[in-house]
Amino acid sequence: MRPFSYLRAADDDRAMRAASEPGAMFVAGGTTVVDLLRIDVLRPALLVDVTGLQHGGIEATPSGGVRIGALARNSDVADHPLIRERYPALAEALESGASPQLRNMATVGGNLLQRTRCPYFRDVGAPCNKRVPGMGCAAVDGYARSHAVLGTSDACIATHPSDMCVALVALDAIIHTRRVTGERTIAMTDLHALPGARPEVEHVLERGELITDVELPASAFAKASCYEKVRDRAEFAFALASAAVGLELTGGTIAQARVALGGVATKPWRAREAEAVLAGKPPAQALFERAAAAALAGAVTRPDNAFKVELAKRTIVRALLRATGAKAVHP
Ligand code: SF4
Repeated sequence: MRPFSYLRAADDDRAMRAASEPGAMFVAGGTTVVDLLRIDVLRPALLVDVTGLQHGGIEATPSGGVRIGALARNSDVADHPLIRERYPALAEALESGASPQLRNMATVGGNLLQRTRCPYFRDVGAPCNKRVPGMGCAAVDGYARSHAVLGTSDACIATHPSDMCVALVALDAIIHTRRVTGERTIAMTDLHALPGARPEVEHVLERGELITDVELPASAFAKASCYEKVRDRAEFAFALASAAVGLELTGGTIAQARVALGGVATKPWRAREAEAVLAGKPPAQALFERAAAAALAGAVTRPDNAFKVELAKRTIVRALLRATGAKAVHP
């Protein structure tokens, strides 16, 4: 690990000013940053510790939603009665991520900005455009079993690793931030960037911009939401495919649906094509299978990860069946 300076910020303004300097970065729970410091992937000049700031609360909003402070710990969010009652997909997604020890340390803000688990990104001896722009991508012609099939580019095919973010996309979450020029809100679907030609740009935040809260709006589909995750082992593993879904059922038809995918895309993936298939129709397994096919229609695969297409489809169907209280019927 290389030497760096450390500042424990006393207030938002000090944190934003310090993190605006070149080579500075925020740290909260440290469950990503400290890992990457140790293996020399991150080389900051200054770490700005934000854990002393006042952004840790979880509270109901007057409009029937919930506001979660960016410094709330993942375990506290997953256990909170308001989250369990109103947004079960989020509680399930958080509980499916990492280990209990990591969930006790990791913050919501840090989880939003998790870095990819692409093994080449974490290997400083391998070419990686995300780590060193213009260096090349070892995964494109390398071993790519864990990599993405949606949202990829010639420059990067890494998956976004977060479970929480997939649930937040499905739940129409809104990200609240502060920057030196003032506050702003960002729709969760717009927070992360596709890799395109610049995979090192992972989100739309400016240097020094501080995430303060995540707002979950009231919605008719959130209560009937759930998160399904398929992985190589039952604990402490990243998704091979995951799906967060929410359904509003009115008079025997789906009034509106939300479908988001993880483990298969370069950012937390909103599957609007699937939602369009579901809207206005009575719930049924055959309909869910058509929606799943629509969600994966644009997949671009490699020999190692082609299995993810069928896996993701089945994960979507399983999630939708659970959201409606139905059981799968296998031919
Ligand atoms: Fe780097 Fe992305 Fe290629 Fe992985 S897939 S080696 S993160 S550029």
